[in-house]
Amino acid sequence: MPELPEVEALAVFLRERASGHVIARADAASFAVLKTFDPPLSALTGLAITEVDRHGKFLDLTCGDLHLVFHLARAGWLRWREDMPDSPVRPGKSPLAFRLVLDDGAGFDLTEAGTQKRLAVYLVRNPVDVPGVATLGPEPLADDFTADALAAILSGRRTQIKGVLRDQHIIAGIGNAYSDEVLHAAKMSPYKLASSFTADEVATLYQAIVDTLRDAVKRSAGLAAADLKGEKKTGLRVHGKTGQPCPVCGDTVREVSFADSSLQYCPTCQTGGKPLADRRMSRLLKLRRPPACGRR
Ligand SMILES: [Zn+2]
Repeated sequence: MPELPEVEALAVFLRERASGHVIARADAASFAVLKTFDPPLSALTGLAITEVDRHGKFLDLTCGDLHLVFHLARAGWLRWREDMPDSPVRPGKSPLAFRLVLDDGAGFDLTEAGTQKRLAVYLVRNPVDVPGVATLGPEPLADDFTADALAAILSGRRTQIKGVLRDQHIIAGIGNAYSDEVLHAAKMSPYKLASSFTADEVATLYQAIVDTLRDAVKRSAGLAAADLKGEKKTGLRVHGKTGQPCPVCGDTVREVSFADSSLQYCPTCQTGGKPLADRRMSRLLKLRRPPACGRR
């Protein structure tokens, strides 16, 4: 899933390439993709894109008085083309979800792989009309996101830090990948309770959030949309690296799996060398255990 650094790079790319251009047409491949109905997508035709902003993981194209806002979700991506095909967007099994064509023939497709369709497009008069934007927590790279602000966020919250970091209502833009990276950089267990942080630990976590995101933004900056996905993968140190050596200490990166996601961490760097309990794994092992004698 594209997170803050990748979406920021897409915003910069679109700002440079699409701003000032007039929209020739915008089409959604299905009713499910477009979450709003008033104004209709046809209202975009003839409007110039004047600004491109990012709110958390949402992209926001200002077009006249309207805002075209979209969220790429887990398996979505933006594919820029200098020469968009003339063929209409057809509903069906293709990953194509949305297409925007500019007056110079260039434009972009939003695509989504897999069967779970979560990519969402909104055409609104104000970005806060999008529920996911209205409820976003603070931007972690904004000037007013300080160590004190983070301390206030963590204080009294009896939940695991991994969940806090990726909750968009608490902090905007960090997802499953960068929360793993931040906790690895901070040398902290993903299970550590938010309410347990000392002032020094808050400062360490704060620095890890800012450094990790800034580094990733720097690496992604200037890359074409097509190259962002590869850059994200190569830049990560533990996320998605199960079984590989930790680049800091050489221990083997481990994972904990959940119903629809997994987290990765380094035991030596983050959990005092002890592997974390993996409830799903132990439940599977329990189910596989042969029945006790005589109880068949
Ligand atoms: Zn390590």
